[in-house]
Amino acid sequence: MLDSAIQYAYIVSAALFIFGLKQLGSPATARRGNMLSAVAMLVAIIAALLDQGIVEYQWILIGFAIGAVIGAAAARLVEMTSMPEMVALFNGSGGMASLLVGWAAISPGAGTFTLVTIVLSILIGGLTFTGSLIAYGKLSEKLGSGAVMFKGQQVVNSLIVLGIIAAATMFCMEPANPQWLYLVIGLALVFGVMAVIPIGGADMPVVISLLNSYSGLAACAAGFAVSNNILIVAGALVGASGIILTQIMCKAMNRSLSNVLFSGFGSVSTETSVVEGEIKPISVDDAYYVLEAASNVVIVPGYGMAVAQAQHVVKELQELLEENGAEVNYGIHPVAGRMPGHMNVLLAEADVPYDQLLEMDEINPRMESVDVCIVIGANDVVNPAARENESSPIYGMPVINVDQARTVFVLKRSMASGFAGIENPLFYKDNTRMLFGDAKESIGGLVREFS
Ligand code: NDP
Repeated sequence: MLDSAIQYAYIVSAALFIFGLKQLGSPATARRGNMLSAVAMLVAIIAALLDQGIVEYQWILIGFAIGAVIGAAAARLVEMTSMPEMVALFNGSGGMASLLVGWAAISPGAGTFTLVTIVLSILIGGLTFTGSLIAYGKLSEKLGSGAVMFKGQQVVNSLIVLGIIAAATMFCMEPANPQWLYLVIGLALVFGVMAVIPIGGADMPVVISLLNSYSGLAACAAGFAVSNNILIVAGALVGASGIILTQIMCKAMNRSLSNVLFSGFGSVSTETSVVEGEIKPISVDDAYYVLEAASNVVIVPGYGMAVAQAQHVVKELQELLEENGAEVNYGIHPVAGRMPGHMNVLLAEADVPYDQLLEMDEINPRMESVDVCIVIGANDVVNPAARENESSPIYGMPVINVDQARTVFVLKRSMASGFAGIENPLFYKDNTRMLFGDAKESIGGLVREFS
C-alpha cells in the first residue's frame, strides 16, 4: 500500500516538474512554474524518505534547516547581476551531492551496471563541482577572467581522460579496492578545472548552462546507482533542458559549442579595423527635445541597465512617452545581460507588459521606421561590427540593428567596451548621440524633463 503510494507520488512529482519546466518558458507563467517545480521537489523528497524506510530524521531535519536558511538568504541577498555566479555554486553543489550519493551507493554485492552508474555519477559530479567553482571564480572576478591556455594543454587533457577511463575500468573490475575509486575522484576533480580554465569569462554563462546540464546527468546516474526513479527523471530533465539552453545561447552568439569550449575566445583579440567617425555627446535636455518629437521609440536594454538597476525608471519613461503619443517597444537580445532572460526578468520586475518585449527577429525588420532607439547599457549586443567587420571576434553574431534607427541614444558611463572587450563603431556613427552617465540617473533626468 505504502509502496504504491510512493510510486504514485513519484509520478505526480515528475508531472509537476514537467509542467513547471513548461511554464518557465514564458515570463508570464515563470513564477508559477518555479512554484510548481518547488512543490514537485518537496513531494519527491518526502516520497524518497518514506521509500528508504527507517531513516534518521534528526539529521535530515538539521540538513533541511541549514539548506533552507542558505537558500532563503541567497535568494534575498544576491544581486540580480550576480545570479549566474549563484547558479554556478548551486550546480557545483548538485555535482558534489551526486558524487557523494554515488560513493555511498557502493556495496559489496553491486553488479556491473550499478558500478558503471556509480562511476558516472562520481565522474560527472566531480568535474561539475570543480568546473563550477572555476566558473564562479571567473564570473565573480575572484580569479582572472581570461582564457588560460598553455603549450601541451591538449596532451595533458588527453592523458587525464585516458587515466579516468583506465581507473574507472579497474574500479568496475575490482570494486573492493578503493584506490581506483580515489583515482577516479581525483582525476574527475582535476578534469573539471582543466576543462573550464581555457574558456574566457565572457563565455562563462554558456559554460554554467552546460555544467547545469552535467549536474542533471550526474543526478540521473546517481538515480540509477541508488534505484530511485524520481532522481533519474529529474536528473534527465535538468540534463536535457541545460543542453537546450546551451544550444540557444550558442546560436544567439553564432558560435558552436566546440568553439565556446576550445577556442579560448577572449584570450587574444584578432580585431584589426580602426573605427572612423567622432563621438557626439548629448545632454539630457537636448535628448528630451528629440524624444518629445518622436512617435516611435524602441528601448534596447543590456547589462548596464542591470548594473544601474534602472528598470523601474525606464518603465516610468516608457509611460511618459506613451502619454506623449509615442509607440514604445523594447528590443530584447537573447544574450543581453549576463544570463538568458536577464532583461525579461528585470523588466517583468518593473511590470513592463510582455507584449511590448520584442525579440531580435521581430524588432530588426522594423528598425528603419523607428524615430529614436534608446540603448540602455547595452554594448556587444548592438555592435554593428558583428555585421560589418569580418575581422571582428563577434563577426556573424546576430545583433539588434539599432544603428538603422533614425536616431540612436547610447546611455553608458564612459567609452569602455562591453564584456567581449571590443570597440563598438556604433558610438561613432552619424546618427548616434552618447548620453554619458549612470543609466538610472540619465533616464531619471529625462523623466523629470517630461513630467
Ligand atoms: P555588455 O557587457 O556588452 O555592455 C554593457 C555596457 O553597460 C558597458 O559597455 C558599460 O559601459 C555599460 N554600463 C555598465 N554599468 C552601467 C551603468 N551603471 N549605467 C550605464 N551603463 C552602464 O552588455 P550587453 O548586454 O550588450 O552584452 C552582453 C554580453 O555578455 C555579450 O558579450 C554576450 O555575448 C555576453 N554573454 C551573455 C550571456 C547571457 O546569457 N546573457 C551569455 C554569454 C555571454 P560603461 O562602463 O561605459 O558604463
